[in-house]
Amino acid sequence: MIFPIDKFKERKTPFYYYDTRLLNATLDAIEKELDGFDNFNIHYAVKANANPDILAIIANRGFGADCVSGEEIDAAVAAGIARSKIVFAGVGKTDDEINKGLDYDIACFNVESLEELAVIDELSGLKGKKANVAIRFNPDIKANTIEQISTGRKENKFGISVDLIDSVADALKHCENIVFKGIHIHIGSQILEMGDFVKLAATMNGLAGRLTARGLDVESINVGGGLGIDYHNPDEALIPDFKSYFDVFKRYLNLSDGQTVHFELGRSVVAQCGSLISRVVYVKQGCGKKFVILDAGMNDLVRPAMYKAYHAIDNLTSDGNKEAYDVVGPVCESSDVFAKDMMLNAAARGDLVAIRSAGAYGEVMSSNYNLRPYAQRYTDLTV
Ligand SMILES: *Cc1c(COP(=O)(O)O)cnc(C)c1O
Repeated sequence: MIFPIDKFKERKTPFYYYDTRLLNATLDAIEKELDGFDNFNIHYAVKANANPDILAIIANRGFGADCVSGEEIDAAVAAGIARSKIVFAGVGKTDDEINKGLDYDIACFNVESLEELAVIDELSGLKGKKANVAIRFNPDIKANTIEQISTGRKENKFGISVDLIDSVADALKHCENIVFKGIHIHIGSQILEMGDFVKLAATMNGLAGRLTARGLDVESINVGGGLGIDYHNPDEALIPDFKSYFDVFKRYLNLSDGQTVHFELGRSVVAQCGSLISRVVYVKQGCGKKFVILDAGMNDLVRPAMYKAYHAIDNLTSDGNKEAYDVVGPVCESSDVFAKDMMLNAAARGDLVAIRSAGAYGEVMSSNYNLRPYAQRYTDLTV
């Protein structure tokens, strides 16, 4: 990735930099795979990055949104995403949030429990409306990803156990203010093993068949998100392998006439276009190692501390020989470490570094812990 370093030099660090040219190229790559598949629909997962400029670019493509809070629904609508293309997931939707979804006539509530189904039925009845719902099933699929971002195992809090399929079918038949639309499954995030998605497709086919056999019309097949990106070599894979991903569903889903397929991609859309740009405050000589101490910390990007996630780091302003550094933030926590033994061009106080692949689950997860201000945002719309 080519960074506009001259433009960076005049800015206060740290800040999130978004390369909208890469975002657009990524969206082009997705659209290419959708060509000829009019029944395929993208609902961008807003939780990955809710920057209004980024949402507007995504809205421009006519994509929908996958939201997990009432505020995300507002953000999606404000950015110009059609209400009729918004789906709403989450295990703990409050009455206020459900009412918002009903008032906005969103496309679908992805329902995560029988208890929630009853509440949506009641609230939509009070408004004299009918709520569209998909049932989020928990397929008990172990995806090849880290434990904290796996969602499709039976011990996770998400979705309704497949074992309850009869109760679900029964409940749906008795909910007068609900229109059953289909099935939703999201097995986790940062998944690079296409075999996991093949399993998901097979599970979907089975569930759709079982619900159809119980007299329910399964129109909408929502396979969630989860496609991973290359955190280790971002420049070699700036655009994820959307072809292999969509090919799985083109090939393995048994669709009948009128069925629509829904994708909730988040990370794969926005991760690579974002970097956290930070300045080296000190290069500190430790015991047998050198620390690069940045002005960005775990409050700005929590993934390394929270998930032990790896982010590549580039020193943008040095072409000195590579050396190994532990790259750390200023926050008073031992876990405020971005990388250990990271090979960087020889670093000095004042250098600018880019923590790469930070466009997803970066800025949205930041906090002001230690009363540190939120990082600035620089969405380059001129490139
Ligand atoms: C987080 C989430 C997504 C997006 O996942 P990515 O791995 O970022 O693609 C999609 N659907 C649901 C229900 C989610 O919770």
